Amino acid sequence: MRDIAIIGGGASGLVAAITAARQGARVTVFERQSRIGKKILVTGNGRCNMTNINMKREHFHTASQKDCFLPIQHKDVEMTLDFFKSLGIERLVENTKVYPASEQASSVLDVMRMEIERLDINVRVDTKVIKLRPEGTKWQVWTETQEKYTFDRVIVATGGLAAPQLGCDETGYGLLKKLGHHQVPNFPTIVHIVSPTKYCKMMKGMRFKSEVSILVEDKVCRIERGEVLFTEDGLSGPPIFLLSRIAAESFAKKQSCKIHMDFMPDHSKEDLVAMIYERIGQGNHKNIEELFVGWLNKRAIMAIIKQADVGSPLAPCENLEYEMVEALAQSMKQLIFEVHGTRGFKFAQATVGGITLDEVNLETMESLKVQGLYLTGEVLDVDGDCGGYNLQWAWSTGFVAGEAATL
Ligand SMILES: Cc1cc2nc3c(=O)[nH]c(=O)nc-3n(C[C@H](O)[C@H](O)[C@H](O)COP(=O)(O)OP(=O)(O)OC[C@H]3O[C@@H](n4cnc5c(N)ncnc54)[C@H](O)[C@@H]3O)c2cc1C
Repeated sequence: MRDIAIIGGGASGLVAAITAARQGARVTVFERQSRIGKKILVTGNGRCNMTNINMKREHFHTASQKDCFLPIQHKDVEMTLDFFKSLGIERLVENTKVYPASEQASSVLDVMRMEIERLDINVRVDTKVIKLRPEGTKWQVWTETQEKYTFDRVIVATGGLAAPQLGCDETGYGLLKKLGHHQVPNFPTIVHIVSPTKYCKMMKGMRFKSEVSILVEDKVCRIERGEVLFTEDGLSGPPIFLLSRIAAESFAKKQSCKIHMDFMPDHSKEDLVAMIYERIGQGNHKNIEELFVGWLNKRAIMAIIKQADVGSPLAPCENLEYEMVEALAQSMKQLIFEVHGTRGFKFAQATVGGITLDEVNLETMESLKVQGLYLTGEVLDVDGDCGGYNLQWAWSTGFVAGEAATL
């Protein structure tokens, strides 16, 4: 019977533990916090967006040339949902996102805890691992309190740097770098974007469906549609989360970065010019601000008028010259926000970068540097888009490593 140590009792570590124990291994989970799976509890705003039925390679990002989709192809969404069903979780599919039917992240952790108990997995909480050393065919694991344990195999599932308040820090990377692994630089992702542009404050609290493009050094890098939330210090919401890895990386590289927001993605600028003229025709007694009431959110109107630079919003709309109408239409199609990075790891849901995939066998998740060492989840240089992709990476790599480590 193999003795397996799992460092980190998060999403990928717990799945690896259950998988290995179901195959007959004797498993010990080391978790530095007072409880396992704390991060799982906050996922999906407490509902746990556990995966996505639209599972495609394009939703995952890595600096490696390797095919990071391999573990997800081996242990796919259906297999994952079957695994959770075997533990008691029924699925709820919303658009393509999958949640537990209870809509409680706590139930995902609860059923895993029940299985961990049933399988008699040894869970050591409040135990931080500070050193790993191979010795012959065995592994030695040291804890912060200088206790030393011996195992046949070690799975490192220490996570990334997102949400440090939930127990993540650099120690996982440190353990692996001492064993010869290399780290791709880290940035926060799935996080608010910070903008000093005054329109954010003007539109604070507003939610609006729009098309958002992110430009680095004036080149469009990615375009997303969805509901944007405007905050005191920047932008948030699903499309912004999808763009945030680019914002974080460009900020770290000191590149110029902007967001262009199209409030009317289904209309051309020419359409909008015609629509503005039609409204002037219907309401030539109105001022410029009033002209837009009922068409656009009131908080957006002022920002659009300001960027168009058409003078006082209180001026009569019938005095608008053609170039001014064009400028207003242009503002509606392209409100410009300067980007100054993101709110950082504290508010991020995932980590860009980590231990390079070049040093891992993706068929087994075993290290190519040292035998008997396996790596799973966010500690690796893979980040998924917002929508259940990061947990799927954690689950799939956990299944693969848990299975391979018992062989
Ligand atoms: C607020 C928030 C919401 C999210 N929502 C979603 C979502 O809805 N859907 C989705 O797909 N993804 C979501 N994510 C991302 C997802 O939670 C992570 O990608 C996933 O949990 C990573 O799993 P992991 O096992 O690699 O690491 P983690 O789950 O972070 O677990 C790592 C564990 O290792 C422990 N640890 C670290 N170092 C040591 C050490 N030296 N010794 C012992 N223990 C150690 C940590 O305490 C931690 O418990 C969210 C993240 C956050 C922060």
